[in-house]
Amino acid sequence: MTARETKSTCPYCGVGCGVVIESQGDQITGVRGDPDHPANFGRLCSKGSTLHLTASATVTQHTRLLHPMQRLRRGEAPQRIAWDTALDLATNQFAKTIRDHGPDAVGFYISGQLLTEDYYVFNKLAKGLIGTNNVDTNSRLCMSSAVAGYKMTLGADAPPTCYDDVNHASCIFIVGSNTAYAHPVLFRRIEDAKRANPQMKVIFCDPRRTDTAEIADLFLPIQPGTDVALFNGMLHTMLWEGWLDHAYIAAHTNGFDALKATVRDYTPEMVASVCGLQKQDILEAARLFATSSATLSLYCQGLNQSSSGTIKNAALINLHLATGQIGKPGAGPFSLTGQPNAMGGREVGGLANLLSAHRDLGNPEHRAEVARLWGVPAVPSKPGKTAVEMFQAAADGDIRALWIACTNPLQSMPDQTTVRRALERAEFVVVQEAFATPATCDHADLLLPATTWGEKVGTVTNSERRISRVRPAVVAPGETRHDWSIAVAFARRLEAAIDGPRGLFPYEDAESIWNEHRESTRGRDLDITGMSYAMLDAAPQQWPLRSGELSGQVRLYEDGQFPTADGRATFANTVYIPVAEPRESRFPFSLTTGRLRDQWHGMSRTGTLGRLFGHVAEPSVQMHPQDMDRRRLRDGELVHVTSKRGSIVVPVQASTEVGLSQAFMAMHWGEEFLSGRASTGERLAGVNALTTSAHCPTSKQPELKHAAVKITKAELPWSLLTVAWLTETQALTARALLKPYMARFQFASCVPFASATPLGDPTDDQRHGVLFRAAHSDAPADAVLAELEAIVGLSDSEALRYADAQKGQRRTARLRRQGDDTLIEGFLLAGDTRAEAWIKTLLQNELPAQALGRSLLVAGAKAPVAVRSRGKQVCTCFNVAEDAIAAHLAGSVVEGAHTRSEDGLLASLQSHLKCGTNCGSCLPELKRLVRSAQPLKQAA
Ligand code: SF4
Repeated sequence: MTARETKSTCPYCGVGCGVVIESQGDQITGVRGDPDHPANFGRLCSKGSTLHLTASATVTQHTRLLHPMQRLRRGEAPQRIAWDTALDLATNQFAKTIRDHGPDAVGFYISGQLLTEDYYVFNKLAKGLIGTNNVDTNSRLCMSSAVAGYKMTLGADAPPTCYDDVNHASCIFIVGSNTAYAHPVLFRRIEDAKRANPQMKVIFCDPRRTDTAEIADLFLPIQPGTDVALFNGMLHTMLWEGWLDHAYIAAHTNGFDALKATVRDYTPEMVASVCGLQKQDILEAARLFATSSATLSLYCQGLNQSSSGTIKNAALINLHLATGQIGKPGAGPFSLTGQPNAMGGREVGGLANLLSAHRDLGNPEHRAEVARLWGVPAVPSKPGKTAVEMFQAAADGDIRALWIACTNPLQSMPDQTTVRRALERAEFVVVQEAFATPATCDHADLLLPATTWGEKVGTVTNSERRISRVRPAVVAPGETRHDWSIAVAFARRLEAAIDGPRGLFPYEDAESIWNEHRESTRGRDLDITGMSYAMLDAAPQQWPLRSGELSGQVRLYEDGQFPTADGRATFANTVYIPVAEPRESRFPFSLTTGRLRDQWHGMSRTGTLGRLFGHVAEPSVQMHPQDMDRRRLRDGELVHVTSKRGSIVVPVQASTEVGLSQAFMAMHWGEEFLSGRASTGERLAGVNALTTSAHCPTSKQPELKHAAVKITKAELPWSLLTVAWLTETQALTARALLKPYMARFQFASCVPFASATPLGDPTDDQRHGVLFRAAHSDAPADAVLAELEAIVGLSDSEALRYADAQKGQRRTARLRRQGDDTLIEGFLLAGDTRAEAWIKTLLQNELPAQALGRSLLVAGAKAPVAVRSRGKQVCTCFNVAEDAIAAHLAGSVVEGAHTRSEDGLLASLQSHLKCGTNCGSCLPELKRLVRSAQPLKQAA
């Protein structure tokens, strides 16, 4: 079979890296970075470089939704139906709801991972055909504060900067963004820029000392949610010190005097107290920002996911306007988009308050323009329901038919209790999805199978306004269809059923949709009338690119002209407002959420791959060690994390990254991976059971970044752990079979177990693991344990087993001969799990176990001397763990074989262990380990 290569785009984050997909026949066989793509020049991070492994035939067979399915009764398994039946059913249900209750009784909740063409059709379907603005997207959880902040100050939703600006900046201010994890390839570019220009200063401001801090010259460990106070305080200092660009303010802005009066109160002393920072650090941050020749701000969810997200964005942009740090190389505010196509969605107006080509729903002229473009009598003026409002309306019975596409609200939305109620109360729920595994699928009346990465065709726009082509490398599996095609087929049927305007959806391919979108941008700030698919095929392009132009605009506002009525930018009068739910005596911890390095969103794709669980293996809540000491909590113990909305049980982990009175949980853990059932019967599911739907009044973006919680020890004396190596098929099957067992315990987590082989190792196929952990107040029936054993392949008669059903004790080990060695293939410990650390190490590192015999079955048996954990995995590509790195560093320093400089030691690690030489995602962590090596500290 001939090998093929297809250029496309990574489907994960807003960096928008170009990829080259390798395929043979219907199978994707490899992926590498596209050396010609201007976002990444050939680089990929740990997520992007493993994309092909998430698209194997086995993963597709076990995790993908491949046929339309109807669930006749809720709670029962869905049945396969034909596409025509599925589309007729959806049409009849939506038409009936619209007829009986009006167009606002339906809602569409779509996704920043859809392509621009998909988005365009959904938007036109809701606003143009049905006559409701109830179309919103998970971008509401991601970028709507950035949109509102740009519009409030600069006049249009347009990031004025580009990635190349990191090479021209003399100061980079990273705030509310763990760029090292969330936008890794951009972080590599910052590392390169800093190496090339050591004089460049990096300020990093975040409540947590994440790996992004490794590049910082100045770290500001700010209290959660106090950013506006900091920005206003920096402006106060700039005013006081005479660091403002008064000429720029006079020539290009409005509204400075009111802001000046406001920031008078934000003295360094007051700001230091509110933000929990040192006064001199605030002064230094203000000095570097204002007096550097070019200052670039990079920011993300730390500003956006906030009940004051819009003014946080605006207060930061105020600093750029006041210092003239905008419209020149290396300077400006640069919002980093979380999702791959949050920008494209904004461009086509795929939010409840927007219209095509950055038009506003609230503007009658804009509505009339769009109605003319679409050939419909009118676009409704009533604002649509935004994400939080939409699920609340469904929970209240106001939205009766809900269409969810390419997103998993039962994992990603805050206040999961309300979302669950919404899905239960809605009369008809359609879920259009590529994967069958997201929790939301379990609540669908109708499941429509969609194509995904490697199969889709269309375009996406990344953070720097660059539009890239997405191309299919293989044919769509099963009966999957492109998202735009499903929406078009439904829309055509609905046109007839509701007697709406006809012929609105004439599209036969993605390009014809894109061409219509392109026409809608004519004369707008994002004008792309000079672009075509053919041009994008040759090279990705930034917008605007008007008719007759040869390339897109690299930077905006270089002439000081802004897209406002008088061409001037506007200072927003920003007043600091605390978080919606400040911590207090009953809920004394600030819970923040964020990304893991190797996972993406709800993990429907990355969560299929054990390799990506090497860096962080299981869910946990992180706390500062002093807070743990005060509460007599030990690493790994289970705790209840409780907010006003819900409670979950999760292991606690000590981390000095987290500040005092703060706690951190990764945003990824939904009920697919972390679950349980309270004694009251209530389902405990995922981190967003805790978060609040309090949202910014302007952007309507919820405050996913902060909730007040209490953390108390969970007294669950009976525990269980089972881990096993299986084939890929067996592991995926086992996880599916284990899912219903999670709700039987007060705590349960179920994850892939990390393979201990380097990327590309030929034994990878045999090393797919599953790890299931549970705890409960008392032991379950012995039969349940036997069922669990059977699921993970431990039930055969050859397995070593000890069982005491009376006491809920059970220990099982399955061994395998390999040459002269006997290796552990899987084990189960129930009741007493104290031996887990060393048995897990034996299994993960494939260490000989023949000498251990029945001691594997002894409760609380001590670790044999030779069995030592390798520590946490640092490098995913070459499976290098902390212990090996520490040993190498100690040897290098003692031998003096390398210079004692950090760069020298890093180079030594890279040449001997290979860590950090492939995707580079572990480089910040390697640098931290190098820096923390004791001899270096002494040298410093
Ligand atoms: Fe994909 Fe990583 Fe690039 Fe983001 S940085 S687009 S996740 S390869």
